[in-house]
Amino acid sequence: MSLFSLDGRRALVTGANTGIGQAIAVSLAAQGANVTCAGRRDCDETLEKIHAAGGTGEGLRLDFADPMAAGDVFDGAGYSILVNNAGIIRRADSLEFSEADWDAVMDVNLKALFFTTQAFARACLTAGNTPASVVNIASLLSFQGGIRVPSYTASKHGVAGLTKILANEWAAKGINVNAIAPGYIATNNTEALREDADRNRAILERIPAGRWGEAEDIGGTAAFLCSRAAQYIHGAVLNVDGGWLAR
Ligand code: NAP
Repeated sequence: MSLFSLDGRRALVTGANTGIGQAIAVSLAAQGANVTCAGRRDCDETLEKIHAAGGTGEGLRLDFADPMAAGDVFDGAGYSILVNNAGIIRRADSLEFSEADWDAVMDVNLKALFFTTQAFARACLTAGNTPASVVNIASLLSFQGGIRVPSYTASKHGVAGLTKILANEWAAKGINVNAIAPGYIATNNTEALREDADRNRAILERIPAGRWGEAEDIGGTAAFLCSRAAQYIHGAVLNVDGGWLAR
C-alpha cells in the first residue's frame, strides 16, 4: 500500500463545515479515509465534495460551547485519526479584553482540544486501534505574539505545548501527535484582512511565496501527517506558511 494511503482508517475532523477543516476532511477522504465531518452546524457542503470525489464520510453535530462535548463520541467506533481544527478568535486591546472573550477562546481552542484528544486516545488504546494520529491546528501565533488577540495567542501557544506533551506520553503507545501552524490562509477567518488593502499588501510583501495560502495547502499536510510516511514524526509543529516564519 502507498506510504501516503489512508485506506481503512476512520477519521474525525472538528469544524469541518468550512475553511481549513473542510479542506482537511476532503484531503483525508481523497486518501481513502472514512471521514466524520464534525461541526456545530451541518457539514453538507463538505460531504458533497467528499462524495463527488468518490470518498466516504458522514456528518456529526459537535458544538464546543460544551468543551467536553466529544466525551463518548469515539467509544467503540473504530477511529484512528483525529484532527482538532475548530477554533475561534476574539480581537480587543489587552487593556480592555473581557473575561468572556478569554473564556470563549480558551474553551474552544484549548480545553475542547485537550479533552477531545483525551477521549480519542482512550478509545484508541482500549480498542487496540493503533497506529493512530492526532493533528492539531496551531497558528503562527503559536510562535509569535500577534496584537489585540491575547486569548488566541495564549491558546495557540498552548496547542503547541499540548502537542509536545501528548507526543511524549503517547509516541511509544502508537499514537502520533503533531500540529500544523498555518500561515495566512484565505478563509472566512481572514476575509477582513484581505479586504483591507493596506493590511493585505503588508502581509503579501512579507510572505516569501508571495501569495495567501489556500485551505488545500493545509489539507495535504494533514493527510501526510496521518499517513505511514509520517510514522516517525512526533511532537512536531509544522509551519505551512509560504515561508513567513523563515523571514
Ligand atoms: P473558519 O472558517 O472560521 O473555521 C473555524 C471552524 O471552527 C468552523 O468550522 C467553525 O464553525 C468551528 N467552530 C467555531 N466554534 C466552534 C464550536 N463552539 N464548536 C464547534 N466548532 C466550532 O476559520 P479557519 O481559518 O478555517 O480556521 C480553522 C482553524 O485554523 C482554526 O483553529 C484557526 O485558529 C486556525 N488557523 C487559521 C488561519 C487562517 O489564516 N485562516 C491561520 C492559522 C490558524 P462555524 O462555521 O459554525 O463557526
